[in-house]
This record gives sequence, structure tokens and C-alpha cells, in this order.
Amino acid sequence: MDYDVIIIGAGPGGIYAAYELCELAPQLRVGVFEAGNELSKRKCPIDGKRIKTCVNCKNCSIMSGFGGAGAFSDGKYNITNDFGGTLYEYLGREQALELMHYVDKINLMHGGQGTKLYSTASTSIKTLCMQNGLKLLDASVRHLGTDINHVVLEKLYERLRRRVDFHFLSPVEHLELLQGGGYRVYAKGKEYTCTSCVVSVGRSGSKWMEKICRELNIPTESNRVDIGVRVELPAELWAHLTDELYESKIVYRTKKFEDKVRTFCMNPKGSVVSENTNGIITVNGHSYEDPARQTGNTNFALLVSKHFSEPFKDSNGYGESIARLSNMLGGGVIVQRMGDLMRGRRSTHQRIAESFVSPTLKAEPGDLSLVLPKRILDGIIEMIQALDKIAPGTAGDDTLLYGVEVKFYNMHAKVDKNLQSCHEGLYLIGDGSGVTHSLSHASASGVFVARNIAG
Ligand SMILES: Cc1cc2nc3c(=O)[nH]c(=O)nc-3n(C[C@H](O)[C@H](O)[C@H](O)COP(=O)(O)OP(=O)(O)OC[C@H]3O[C@@H](n4cnc5c(N)ncnc54)[C@H](O)[C@@H]3O)c2cc1C
Repeated sequence: MDYDVIIIGAGPGGIYAAYELCELAPQLRVGVFEAGNELSKRKCPIDGKRIKTCVNCKNCSIMSGFGGAGAFSDGKYNITNDFGGTLYEYLGREQALELMHYVDKINLMHGGQGTKLYSTASTSIKTLCMQNGLKLLDASVRHLGTDINHVVLEKLYERLRRRVDFHFLSPVEHLELLQGGGYRVYAKGKEYTCTSCVVSVGRSGSKWMEKICRELNIPTESNRVDIGVRVELPAELWAHLTDELYESKIVYRTKKFEDKVRTFCMNPKGSVVSENTNGIITVNGHSYEDPARQTGNTNFALLVSKHFSEPFKDSNGYGESIARLSNMLGGGVIVQRMGDLMRGRRSTHQRIAESFVSPTLKAEPGDLSLVLPKRILDGIIEMIQALDKIAPGTAGDDTLLYGVEVKFYNMHAKVDKNLQSCHEGLYLIGDGSGVTHSLSHASASGVFVARNIAG
């Protein structure tokens, strides 16, 4: 065998699997194959001047490379079983939390020291939410910030590169079972064999993952898709929540349809950004720990989950179609003032310019009611009105809504309680497996399988 363990994908799942293998079994030969580049070479060509919009690079530096999809993220490590994945269904709640705390400790040892850990324990905001028909989910949040998150990744890479063979710009094309046990992977025209294989290809590897599951007869199930908008408003309106909790995950059940709407990815004093997933432009947000890079606005997403199973199964396809519609109407992300949405009119450049909230993303003013299905939009409006009771001003005319925000999830690949597929020694972890959808859960799943492999 060329390697004892091959890890496919160098996102948080793959990185923490490699880290733990080096700690527990330094004698093992570990190879990591990554479709993208090493961290220092990950550069998105959009510079705001010469290149203003996504040019659909063959290899997206934002989503791929050392650090995975999370490399330029806000670095919010949510330590909780309440959201971010269903790891606890496989390992139990206690162990899942223990692993997330362990990941947090590693992050602190590699440049994250001094960053703040926020917690919902004993906050009065919980009661305030309850009194207004909202539910605040329990979590501790380590906010590294985009800048420190980068430092942590650099340090982890420095530590790992001496002990692990990294193959960058090496997308694994095929994965085969070897007769008598073990695996063969094909990358860049070469073949490599290994005893155990950890697949951690994240969202960007979803199509590849589907192919591999088909070829290796690994059962799969469709997953949900989350659709909604990103809300941007003056940071002061949410300061009483963000100062104490940083990120609050709040759930609301709509009166009209009893659908659940939830807040997601809160960025105090942050910026709204656009994101390219397989050529579709959607919206996201991030914020920096460094005060010099902060803005006067806070942003967060409001999302509704949709899951299709029979006869239509393609939840992601549904989300993609809605995002494509917004791209068709707005050429990319659409922005609308809450006041314009409520008055049934599109926003214009002039109305946005006269607004009291300055947008942090240059998006096309438009009408989100022409893009989002009524049921989803009604739910979002109802939730904004409910949030207005805990943070007055949220439903104000000048609150900006960007659309659409879509969170795609990989299909669920069937794994056992060790995150092992039906093939011995083939582990499916992180967001690619459909089990996780966050930094902390993906990282914890990497540590978990490494401990199993190391024995
Ligand atoms: C803009 C943004 C902000 C985010 N912010 C947060 C946040 O604050 N908190 C949070 O919890 N989560 C956040 N997330 C989500 C988080 O980044 C992911 O949940 C996490 O990165 C998943 O880790 P992973 O290792 O499973 O997959 P990924 O991070 O997606 O890594 C998978 C890696 O596998 C590689 N790959 C794919 N296919 C192949 C192949 N065939 N061969 C070789 N390599 C392959 C990819 O190039 C990629 O580098 C954010 C995501 C984005 C996009």
C-alpha cells in the first residue's frame, strides 16, 4: 500500500482527521488529496476593480483548497447538538460535544487564544424570545473571525505538512475497492493505494460523492434545502443580542402555515457577500474580529427548510431553480428594502440610496416577491415582525433584504455509528456525508474517525 490512510478533501473534516491521526498514530503514512490549492495560494480573482463578478474559475478558491469551504468564513464554531449537523445521532450527545470542545482546544492552541466564547447559558434573552413566540437554541459559540480563522489554518498546515503528504490541485477522480481489502484512488493520472480511506469532500464535492455512492453501492437518502433571504440592518438594533451572544439561533413557527423559519449565520458589524455555487450566485455574510474591518451593519439569514422525498426528490434542484430565477431577474443577488417589499413595489437605486441603511454588498435593487414562493416569503415577513418585538426596528422600512440565500445540503450517505460505510475501512465524514453542516461538527467527525482508525 502507498498509504495506511488516504484522506480525500482538506476542509475541516479532513484537516482534523489528519491532525488526530498524527497525534495518536504518528507511524501511519497519511496522504491528503485536495482538489484546490494550499491556503497561501487560494485567491479569488474578484478585486472589485478589474474583475467585479464571479468568472466561474474551474477551481473556486473560495470553496476549495486547504481549509475547505470554511477558510474565508467568519469562523464561528458552534458547540452544540441543537444545530450544525446530526453527529450526535451516531456518537451520542455527550461524545459529540466532547469532540467539539476538543476541536475548540486545538484551535486555541493554534492561534485562536484570546478569542471570545459566547454562551446562551443563563441569558435573559431566552425569556424575551419565549415571550414573543420565538425559541432561542442553546449553544456556545467560539467566534474566531475571518482573520484569526485564517491564522489557525496556517498554523495547522505548518504543523501537518511535515507529517502528512499533501497533494494539492489533485481532485480524486475515482475510488475503487481492492480485492482482499483496501482502496485505490486515481488523481492527476496516477494511482495510489491505501488500507483505510476517509472521504471528506464537503458541499463542493457533492456531485462526486453521489457518483461514488452509486458506483460503490452505498445507500443514500435525499436531504433538505434551506431557502430565504439575508437581512441587513444597523448594528445598534441587534447590539443587545450580539454583544452578549454574538450569534443567536432563533426559531419561529409561523401562524399561517406552522412552518419553521430560523435565523442563520449572524454577522455583527459584518458584510454581506455573494457566493458562487456551481455557477449560481447566492448571498452569504461574514464579519471580522479586527475592528478596523468591521462595518456599521449586522446581517443574518432567515431560512425556511424544504425537503422533498416522493415523487420529486431533488431538494437541492428546487433551491437551485429559485436561485437561478433571482439570477435571471437581477443578474446576481437582488436587494430590496423591507418598506418596498411591504408596499408591493420593487426597490430602485434611488430608494436604496435614500435609505438610512447603507448596503455592504453592491446588489441589484429588485423585487423578492417575484422570486421567492409565497409561502416562504410570508413566513419570512412574519418572522421579521416577530423579531421586531425583541429587537425593535428590525421590521423597519429601511431594513435591507438580499436574496436569495440558499443552503444546499448533501444527500445522506448511509454510515454506521463509526461513520463507516458498508465497506470496511471507508469512512464518510463532514458535510459531504450529509451528517454535518458546520465547522465544529465537520471537524469533530474528522477527529472521531481518526480515533477509530488509530485504534
Ligand atoms: C462563506 C461561508 C461561510 C461559512 N461560515 C461558517 C461559520 O461561520 N460557521 C460554521 O459552522 N460553518 C460555516 N460555513 C460552513 C462550513 O464552512 C462547512 O460546514 C465546513 O467547511 C464543512 O467542512 P468539510 O470538511 O466537511 O467540507 P469542506 O470545508 O467543504 O471541504 C471539502 C474539501 O474537499 C475538497 N474536495 C471536494 N471534492 C474533492 C475530490 N474529488 N478530490 C479531492 N478533494 C475534493 C474541496 O476542494 C474542499 O476543500 C460557512 C460556509 C461558507 C461557504
